[in-house]
Amino acid sequence: MDEVVVVGGGPAGRVLARACAARGLVTTVVDPNPGRRWRATYAAWSDELPPGAPVAVSTSAARAVTTTEHVIPRGYAVLDNERLWRLPDEVRVVAGRVVGRTGTGVALADGRVLSGRVVDASGAVGGRAAQTAVGVVVPAAEARPFVGPDEALIMDWRRPPAATTADPTFLYAIPVSADEVLLEETSLARRPGLPLRELRLRLHARLAEHGIAVPAEEERVRIPLDGRARGGAFGAAAGWIHPATGYSVAAALRRAPVVAEAISAGRGVPRPVAERVVRVLRLRGLESLLALRPDEVPEFFNSFFEMSDSLQRDYLGGPDDLRGTVRAMTRLFGSASWGMRARLAFPVHSAKSARTPG
Ligand SMILES: Cc1cc2nc3c(=O)[nH]c(=O)nc-3n(C[C@H](O)[C@H](O)[C@H](O)COP(=O)(O)OP(=O)(O)OC[C@H]3O[C@@H](n4cnc5c(N)ncnc54)[C@H](O)[C@@H]3O)c2cc1C
Repeated sequence: MDEVVVVGGGPAGRVLARACAARGLVTTVVDPNPGRRWRATYAAWSDELPPGAPVAVSTSAARAVTTTEHVIPRGYAVLDNERLWRLPDEVRVVAGRVVGRTGTGVALADGRVLSGRVVDASGAVGGRAAQTAVGVVVPAAEARPFVGPDEALIMDWRRPPAATTADPTFLYAIPVSADEVLLEETSLARRPGLPLRELRLRLHARLAEHGIAVPAEEERVRIPLDGRARGGAFGAAAGWIHPATGYSVAAALRRAPVVAEAISAGRGVPRPVAERVVRVLRLRGLESLLALRPDEVPEFFNSFFEMSDSLQRDYLGGPDDLRGTVRAMTRLFGSASWGMRARLAFPVHSAKSARTPG
C-alpha cells in the first residue's frame, strides 16, 4: 500500500507527512483543526537537529545555574514554527477527528473513512506527571539581567523572590528573535503539574525585581511526562517526550526519514526493543526526580552539568539510545550524595515523605 494516513497535524505528524511525501507515498494528514497555528516555542540543542531543520534563531552557547554556574559550549536553537507547520502541496490535509480504525484505514467522527497505512501522531495521552511553565516575551535589552547576547539560559534554579510553595522551579531564558527573549518560569516535573498561578507569581516577581513590565500575552506550557506510549505511533504519541526535559520535537525531526523509509518499504513504524527499554529507564528516572527534596533538585542538575559533554548528550539523546542512557544514568547515580542516592534508588517510598504540598 503506498497510501499513508497520519493522524494528527502537530509537529510530529507534519514532519512525518513531509518525509513520507518526499518518498512518493500518497500522504494524508488528518487533524480536527489543521489550519491552527502553534503558539508554543519549540526549541532543541542545535546538535540534536538534523541538517536542514527549520531553525528561526540559534545561539552558540548555553548556560545553566544550579548550585553553581555552568557554561555549556553547545548551540541551542528555536524552531521556525511556520516552516515546521507548512506542508508541500502533495500532502492532502483533512479536517476531522479520528474515532477508530477500519481494516484499511481510519474512521472519522463525521462518518468519513480514509484509507492508507495509519500512523498515530495524535500527541500524548494520559499520565499525571507534567512539566508546566508560564512565559512571556520581552525585549532582549530588558532581559539582559537574566541572559546575555548569543546565549540560552537553559535553567537558573536560584529561587525567585516570590514563592508560596517549596516546589523547585527554574527560569528559562532564550532568544526567540533578533531582539526578543522568552522568559519562562518552569516546573520541570511534578505530579500533578505545578499550577500555573504559582509559576506566574514567581515569574512576575522576577520581572518586577528588574523593573520589567509584564507583557499582556503569556505562553502556557503543560507537557505530560508519563503519558501512554502507543505502538505504531510517532512523536509524543509514541512516548518520545523525554521526562527530564519535556522535549520530543528534535527526536521527531531526526526519526521522520527513517520511519518514512520503513513505511515505504512496507514495514510499518519500527519500534526497536531499545526504545522500549529506554522508556522504562527514563520513567524510572522521572520517579527519582519526583522523589528528590526541593533543595536536592539543583544539586542533581549540578551533577548533571558536571558530567562530560558526551554523557550529557547521552542522557538527553534519542528515544532508542539505550547504551547512552544507561551510561549517563549510571554516572549520575554514582555522583549523587548518599542521601540522594537512597531517594534515587527507592523513589516511591521517599516521594511520599519528601514532596511538599502545593
Ligand atoms: C507550550 C509548549 C512548549 C513546548 N516546548 C517544547 C520545546 O521547546 N521542545 C520540544 O521538543 N518540545 C516542546 N514541547 C513538548 C512537545 O514536544 C510538544 O508537545 C509537541 O507538540 C509534541 O508534538 P506531537 O506532534 O507529537 O503532538 P501534538 O503537538 O500534541 O500534536 C498532536 C495533534 O494531533 C491532533 N489529534 C489529537 N487527537 C486526534 C484525533 N483523534 N484525530 C485527529 N487528530 C488528532 C491534535 O489536535 C494535535 O494537533 C512543548 C509543549 C508545549 C505545550
